[in-house]
Amino acid sequence: MSKTPFVTKEQIEEIVKTYPTPFHIYDEKGIRENAQAVKEAFAWNPGFKEYFAVKANPNPVLISILREYGCGCDCSSKTELMLSEAIGAVGSEIMFSSNDTPAEEYAYAAKLGAIINLDDITHIPFVEEILGELPKTMSCRYNPGGIFQMSNGIMDNPGDSKYGLTTEQMFEAYRQMKEKGVENFGIHAFLASNTVTNEYYPTLAKQLFELAVQLEKETGADIKFINLSGGVGIPYTPDGTPNDIRVIGEGVRKVYEEVLVPAGMGDVAIFTEMGRFMMGPYGQLVTKAIHEKHTHKEYIGVDACAVNLMRPAMYGAYHHITVLGKEDAPCTQMYDVTGSLCENNDKFAVDRMLPVIDKGDYLVIHDTGAHGYAMGYNYNGKLKSAELLLKEDGSVDLIRRAEKPEDYFATLDCLPVYNKIDF
Ligand SMILES: *Cc1c(COP(=O)(O)O)cnc(C)c1O
Repeated sequence: MSKTPFVTKEQIEEIVKTYPTPFHIYDEKGIRENAQAVKEAFAWNPGFKEYFAVKANPNPVLISILREYGCGCDCSSKTELMLSEAIGAVGSEIMFSSNDTPAEEYAYAAKLGAIINLDDITHIPFVEEILGELPKTMSCRYNPGGIFQMSNGIMDNPGDSKYGLTTEQMFEAYRQMKEKGVENFGIHAFLASNTVTNEYYPTLAKQLFELAVQLEKETGADIKFINLSGGVGIPYTPDGTPNDIRVIGEGVRKVYEEVLVPAGMGDVAIFTEMGRFMMGPYGQLVTKAIHEKHTHKEYIGVDACAVNLMRPAMYGAYHHITVLGKEDAPCTQMYDVTGSLCENNDKFAVDRMLPVIDKGDYLVIHDTGAHGYAMGYNYNGKLKSAELLLKEDGSVDLIRRAEKPEDYFATLDCLPVYNKIDF
């Protein structure tokens, strides 16, 4: 496999006349085709719903596209709830999967009629106190502890993660909630992140389905949905094989028919909360080479920095880079590709073999559609970039303008100095 940008040098040269680099650009066609594939992969389950993880890409235009394919919104904070409300998602179209949740955020979620997914057993009395009574529909996040293992090895380490309730707490929680008048129950778990294998969801589903059967039997709680949450990954490296959502959907169906149907639970809805899989490959950060530096290493300085894409600095994450117009040129030069932050980890690539880069070249940094712009911040007084949508007809829409100095100073409007700044 190789990675090809969804924009060409000629397109970018045209776009920068209106929108200077750096910017994130999104591929409407790719987003739509993938959303349709997800819908079809789970069409066997009448209650299926993908709640897009808003945190992965909180752009209302992009989320509105997903909503055309039946997607709801998975929120983790009050402002994400407000955003979902603003684009017309209400009631059970919103999943509120938060943790360490402030009281006012639960109150807001309840006001919207969102489905509340608790991260801890102590949140049962907490929510009851805030709302006066528990909502009729409730869900809890499960964390079995230990390590999450599949045939191809260790996937993640739930025993070390802050999220969710233990197995014992799950049974206790569903008993308590039932006693307190809850009528419809869900189960949620997120046990491994960025899994590039078609086995993750089916393996997780089997574990949750078996738990659901036990929970229903022992507590009498009526399990209405099982939420497989996020974690379906994408290959960031060019040699990776993408997940096949149709195979994943069929894998979940198989365990559904093995475990739930014989237990008389063949009406349980499957929910997902994918972020990365829905949007990751359909976003690219476009940046321009503005400096080259020859010291102890060879550096290319670009006009984007970790503020625009934090994953390499934060996790050492690999993001593939294509030099536009040099797609077929041999990768003969080893570079560190850097941003301008006063942080030595502000590098989009370290020791990366690339074609010889000239000042003025445009670089496409791949797979920034999820956890890309969204993780941005303002360190060093750097401003967040614009977001553009490459539409199916080839035209480009501005779907978020770049930040201006006024935005950076907006929270200082309480100080006299604010009035002295010449914007
Ligand atoms: C982050 C997150 C997701 C989305 O995860 P992806 O890996 O982007 O699919 C879904 N649900 C919850 C609760 C999350 O925290």
